[in-house]
Amino acid sequence: MSLQLEIDEKRYTPNGEPILSQVQFQTAAGEFIALVGPSGAGKSTLLNIVAGLDTQFSGRLTVDNQPLHQGRDTALRIGFMFQEARLMPWLTVLDNVLLVLAHTPDRVARAEAMLQAVGLGDALHAFPSQLSGGMQRRVALARAFVVQPQLLLMDEPFISLDAPTVQQLHSLLLDLWSQQKPTVLFVTHTLLEALSLADRVLFFSRAPARIIHQQHVELTRPRSTAQVSAVAEQLLMAHPEMLAGEVSV
Ligand code: ADP
Repeated sequence: MSLQLEIDEKRYTPNGEPILSQVQFQTAAGEFIALVGPSGAGKSTLLNIVAGLDTQFSGRLTVDNQPLHQGRDTALRIGFMFQEARLMPWLTVLDNVLLVLAHTPDRVARAEAMLQAVGLGDALHAFPSQLSGGMQRRVALARAFVVQPQLLLMDEPFISLDAPTVQQLHSLLLDLWSQQKPTVLFVTHTLLEALSLADRVLFFSRAPARIIHQQHVELTRPRSTAQVSAVAEQLLMAHPEMLAGEVSV
């Protein structure tokens, strides 16, 4: 499945400043794309548009040349992961994942298998408050992947976690992605995170956000910190004006 995105313009109020202007890109099937840019650039706005949560923009979103959203119907299975795990505190881990499998016949078996796959086989009946931040993100990953998404939208999903936990979640995400191969749009303001995960990194300017550069990352996975840092350094040397103060390394 290939997503084509053409946003001519997005404003929140008719006379307000444009937030997105002439943003266009197309994904390959199963491509992992990172969207990098300064805070406030409009990255979350773009994800909300792709998710169909925001329809107030001018432009087109198509999947293999068909409209992605038609009214309230969406042509694809879409998975989401946000900055917070967004779990229902009164539901167990298993019930949080079951929530997204409303009409699936073997839903309990599927949810349990996915929770096993993210390392939470022993925590099926725990409540979110009993879990660490890293474990809560594992539940959110299980909930995103259990629907076998064709498109996965991730908005800084591993923010405010310690570095070793982030490393573990990166490797879990890449395992799940390589098994299911959804197309991924992953928002981050951290260049190293983008370069360690993505096939291609799109760099956004400050608002009104435009794509100012794109970088294919040819390194095979898993990528070492040294490899990723070397690519980051090359980029910073090649485009100092683009990246200075705009993204964190
Ligand atoms: P990013 O995700 O890159 O940090 P956002 O998409 O969250 O950026 O925000 C882009 C700009 O749009 C910011 O200036 C923000 O204040 C503004 N904005 C975001 N959501 C709304 C909203 N619901 N109404 C008005 N302005 C908004």
